[in-house]
Amino acid sequence: MNLANKIREIQDFPKEGINFKDITTLLKDKEAFKYMVDALSEQLKGLDVDIVAGPESRGFLVGAPVAYKIGAGFVPVRKPNKLPGETLRHEYELEYGMDALEIHKDAIKPGQKVAIVDDLLATGGTMLATAKLIEALGGEVVSMNFLIELVFLNGRNKLEPYNIKTLIAYD
Ligand code: AMP
Repeated sequence: MNLANKIREIQDFPKEGINFKDITTLLKDKEAFKYMVDALSEQLKGLDVDIVAGPESRGFLVGAPVAYKIGAGFVPVRKPNKLPGETLRHEYELEYGMDALEIHKDAIKPGQKVAIVDDLLATGGTMLATAKLIEALGGEVVSMNFLIELVFLNGRNKLEPYNIKTLIAYD
């Protein structure tokens, strides 16, 4: 299955200069969706994952079915003030300005093995912030899995020495 063919590219969204990878065209295709979930789940084989964590919002769409498939729980990592319970916040720098992500304080127990799954690796900032939250709760980040990697942005460098796997690379 050529998954890359199923992803639509939209130029200048959400702002000029961004070539947006639109995965809705993949998600609505039943064979492609199944293939993606199976392939990401395969990458987690043997890692004994307790929890799949997914950053808002496409990390929910990709991460939750993977959690189901491998028999793990799912934890959402969200933009500020979305989660209803007590949260931990991690702020991180963007190219211009700051952003933040939150996790429920009781989402992960110390020692649990966590895989973080997201749709796309760009600069790696989102993934690194997610990993920091999980580690602050005592979780062990055993894997970072992405559907898409924008190789030219060198996000992997920021995420060293984590175990990073991607399905589709754009050079
Ligand atoms: P980053 O933190 O720079 O690695 O950015 C990753 C996050 O931003 C992911 O959650 C993606 O959903 C989103 N993202 C960044 N660049 C793109 C892009 N070109 N197309 C679609 N989503 C993107």
